[in-house]
Amino acid sequence: MQKTIERIAGDSEGVAYEFPVFRFEGTDKSAPSAYLQAALHAGELPGVVAIDALMPMLAKAEAEGRIRDAITLVPWANPIGRAQYHFGEHQGRFNLGTRTNFNRAFPLLAAPDARLLADVNLGGADRRLKKRLVELSLGNDIVLDLHCDDEGLAYLYIHTSLWPHMADCAAAMGIDAVLLWSEDSSGTFEGASIMPYQNVPASVARFDRRVVTTVEYRGMLDVDSSLAASDAAGLYRLLVTRGVIRDPSVPKASSFSGAVVPLENIEMMPSPKAGAILYDVKPGDRVNKGDRLATIVHAPGEAGGRTEVFAPQSGFILTRRSRRIIRAGEDLLKLAGDKRSADARSGTLED
Ligand SMILES: [Zn+2]
Repeated sequence: MQKTIERIAGDSEGVAYEFPVFRFEGTDKSAPSAYLQAALHAGELPGVVAIDALMPMLAKAEAEGRIRDAITLVPWANPIGRAQYHFGEHQGRFNLGTRTNFNRAFPLLAAPDARLLADVNLGGADRRLKKRLVELSLGNDIVLDLHCDDEGLAYLYIHTSLWPHMADCAAAMGIDAVLLWSEDSSGTFEGASIMPYQNVPASVARFDRRVVTTVEYRGMLDVDSSLAASDAAGLYRLLVTRGVIRDPSVPKASSFSGAVVPLENIEMMPSPKAGAILYDVKPGDRVNKGDRLATIVHAPGEAGGRTEVFAPQSGFILTRRSRRIIRAGEDLLKLAGDKRSADARSGTLED
């Protein structure tokens, strides 16, 4: 295994950002290669500790000559966000200087060719970081971007061109649900990893062996050693299932038994009022149309000071907020509906 340090120039003299990249070289270039990154939203740590738990498994496979093609790991993908504290609170989702979401504004190339990337020397540190992450990941058969939600189930975003080819991966990882999306106009990392393959010859796109996904490893607080171990085991199983690592002791993943939901079916449930949230439901709960999902206490102690929110259709709760204060219009939860949402947000990725 080789460790290298990547360096991203900051936006003023004397400032630079660094992050490590770990690379296991394989012995069989015909096998698929893999790229894993975590904490692009810098405070989302379940994937960081999953990679930490995965490393000894990869080191063992390497020592035993079982790594077939290269595996690249970036456990802290966002050193800019990692260093952002605002009045003592960590802010890892948006670049404080530009208000840009760290998982937006990635370049969406017309083909999987890093030479098409624009020069970003004067583009800002976050753009330089994004360009470098695309350079590191592009061309790998398997690209996993490990995130988490506020509170939630374990779920994957997958582009429709890769489904159901990737059902074995979802099964290997032990994921609860898969969200299928089709459009990316905002430039998520996942979009930057799959859109370049949409208009190239099938022999290059290879959707049968390509794996690209944003992994939502439950919630922000789901960071502990047993989840890290089971998530690492799931990642390892995926790498074995797809032939990156040879390991006859790993049983073949059974078929995927979780939910598969088109993004158009997701109900985001904006809060009608600002206030304190009393949830009636938690991630994983099944709900029927008309069930109460939450009560917003916006004028405590006053008549009419509570507003209830009901399920617009039947489905299950995918995520909810981890904090209980909310402003009007902010999303209370994600309800994975059984059918298309009446106000579907056009099928784009939400992470
Ligand atoms: Zn995220």
